[in-house]
Amino acid sequence: MWARILKLKNGRQTRGNGILVWACLFSLICGIIEFGLPLENMLRYARNEIRPQQASGDIVVVGIDGRSLNEVKQRWPWPRADLAKIADTLNEAGAKRIFFDFTFDSYTDPTNDNAMIEALKRAPGRIFLANRYVIDQATSQRTDHVNIPEFSKYSGTVNINGEIDPFGVPLAFPYQTTVGGKTTQSMAAALANVSGGTDEYFRADYAIKLNSIPKVSAVDILTGKISSSVFAGKDVVIASSTIELGDMYRAPGSRGLLSGIYFSVFAAETLKRGKPAEYSWFGPWVFAIFLIAAFMRIGRKWLRRSIFGVGVVTLLTIPLLLEENLIFVQIVPALLSFMIVGIARARANFRKQLHDSGITNNVSGLLNLAALHEVEAKSGATLIAMKIHNYLAIKSTVPAGYEKDLIDQIVSRISLGVERSNLYQSDDGAFVWIADDISHATAVERIDALHSIFRSTIKVGEQAVNLFITFGIDRDETRSLANRASSAILAADEGGKSGDRWSLSDADKSKERAAQLFLVGRIDQAIANSEIWVAYQPKLDLKTNLICGAEALVRWTHPDRGAISPDEFIKMAEEQDRIDNLTLHVLENAIRTSAAINNHGVNFEIAANLSPRAFAGLPIDAIASAMLAKYKLPAHCLTLEITETATMRPNGEFIAVLERLRMIGINISVDDYGTGLSTLEYLRAIPSNEVKIDRSLISQIDFSAESRMIVNSTIQMVHSLGRSVVAEGVETEAVLKLVSQMGCDKAQGYLISKPMRFRDLWSMIGIEPKTAAA
Ligand code: C2E
Ligand code: CA
Ligand code: CA
Repeated sequence: MWARILKLKNGRQTRGNGILVWACLFSLICGIIEFGLPLENMLRYARNEIRPQQASGDIVVVGIDGRSLNEVKQRWPWPRADLAKIADTLNEAGAKRIFFDFTFDSYTDPTNDNAMIEALKRAPGRIFLANRYVIDQATSQRTDHVNIPEFSKYSGTVNINGEIDPFGVPLAFPYQTTVGGKTTQSMAAALANVSGGTDEYFRADYAIKLNSIPKVSAVDILTGKISSSVFAGKDVVIASSTIELGDMYRAPGSRGLLSGIYFSVFAAETLKRGKPAEYSWFGPWVFAIFLIAAFMRIGRKWLRRSIFGVGVVTLLTIPLLLEENLIFVQIVPALLSFMIVGIARARANFRKQLHDSGITNNVSGLLNLAALHEVEAKSGATLIAMKIHNYLAIKSTVPAGYEKDLIDQIVSRISLGVERSNLYQSDDGAFVWIADDISHATAVERIDALHSIFRSTIKVGEQAVNLFITFGIDRDETRSLANRASSAILAADEGGKSGDRWSLSDADKSKERAAQLFLVGRIDQAIANSEIWVAYQPKLDLKTNLICGAEALVRWTHPDRGAISPDEFIKMAEEQDRIDNLTLHVLENAIRTSAAINNHGVNFEIAANLSPRAFAGLPIDAIASAMLAKYKLPAHCLTLEITETATMRPNGEFIAVLERLRMIGINISVDDYGTGLSTLEYLRAIPSNEVKIDRSLISQIDFSAESRMIVNSTIQMVHSLGRSVVAEGVETEAVLKLVSQMGCDKAQGYLISKPMRFRDLWSMIGIEPKTAAA
């Protein structure tokens, strides 16, 4: 019944979708324009470090390196006679094939040229020369460089072009391409003995370790320093490998430059392991977007985090396995979408943390009043504030470190009727919560119940503390909740001053007053129309276990508003001096009903409520005795229930009237005992013969030891004054049993019966109405 009725203004879902769209779009564009390429390369190089590959060792590089240039002391290009000498040496050493990374597209001098041609002739078909094309970056014009026929006549030809990425790293190589009108196999494909389509490119696997490729300095061959066994059965490539000679490219994964020949060797070593396949970034990207969409829709934190984690880890590790099998994919667009969502989430969490730390009380962790700014209340919501007036005083006396314990106990008491998540705490001992669409009467009822709960002492450490609490109610829907909370606390503060358990907030007061004034203005008319009638709530005699009487309770069934609680109009009727007719109406009905029942030979006492105001306006003793006489009801069958209010302390005149009523034989009952200021002196001063213990106290006794103790001692005390005790608000068997054990004389409450129409009362007592009683 205290269901939470709030709905946080929570835009998470829509914001989440916004992020998803952003992540989607941004990563998609990055994929299309290859914005993530540097990162893609970095990740790929990092993976290469994790899975280093050894070269086959079947390809030996002969480098015309810095040392070769120095020691030969000749200018570049090297005399072809020297190249021929290298070719001969390799040939004699049993090299399988010999590849020159040079294009013989021009003549030098006849001696040198002839020396080279002779060398080619000595190894027919086993020496390969390179062709290539060059694209002029300025004019986009392509020039093909092919070998002069005299040279190519005795040799094979391979192509040495490759595709270079925007960062200067040779990226992919063709299986074969067309140069000078002739389709030529690439050096890589030739070295690996793999064939493929013309201008079909493949990616080299740079995980191959550079130092696993056998290398020899050209000068060492010329000077005969190398044993021929190094070359036997191997493919040998001869190339320039020093910066002075150009043909250097960015080495993958490092800042340095590397001779072009090594890229062809990497490519050849790759092909030796298999034909690489390359897939676009799109697949991983779709995978990522799919996971992210799922991630955003899932509420459970651990599951959400796992999905995110699995997604990122998969993206980072799967390429390792794929690349091991020469399958290359781009994962950066996919990763980017994860990154965007991750960063957005982290940012939102961080903000939420900052924000939450600003809207919670740091001792209790409860939301504070600032949090109300973010809450939307349902229509009809009532705001209730509970103010602990001596909170600061108590806080200063409880042992160090026990404040949390104190608050916990307070909160656990409030939580008997209020959901913790719906509870807001101010720093100075006020708690506020939002109640469902409840009537004013229900709000008051709940407040009464809480008030009783707080009657018992709280133990903090070894110290017992008693809280002085009052409540404030705000029902003004037109204002913001934060605003209303302040009003409700203010109202509770006022209650503390005037001694009332609760009071309405100012805005409510004026509204409520206007509505009540209007109602009260119609009281006389309503009595005449029978809109106002009297209900009877039976009382049980606990000694005989029989219904011994009933309390007359006024009811107003408004044609438009339906049932209106007496709490809503009695007080106002008193204030406006419109109570007298009502009092007389109820009194007469009560006496008539009781007389009718008594006429059936059933001894039946009737009780009517009499507000102290009524004493001021009416000669109540004269009226009562006249009515008793009119309906021939013995005076001892009538009880008048009176309540002490803060504004009306017993004075001489009041006491005198009561004494006269007692003289007539009418019973006087002190109503609502245990709620307000009722003290032993008050009980002694009032000439009564009965005390009614209020339902707010009675309803607690089955679970509150403190309430049980108070009720028990009250019963003893009242009995010692020679008066009887009625327990009001008995709702359960357990409570009935307890009050009966404690020696209570009578009980009244929903367990026995709710207030009912007099006809139902008749049938409950087991008699048929003989005379009409209105
Ligand atoms: P009261 O005199 O304390 O009356 C008892 C109230 O408790 C009644 O509310 C009754 O319906 C309710 N009640 C009885 N047993 C139980 C129970 O087991 N559980 C719960 N939750 N409630 C129980 P009601 O009829 O709304 O009356 C409210 C108050 O209005 C009365 O409190 C009384 O102070 C005043 N009132 C009612 N009729 C008259 C009247 O004719 N004249 C005057 N002056 N005041 C009246
Ligand atoms: Ca009463
Ligand atoms: Ca009561």
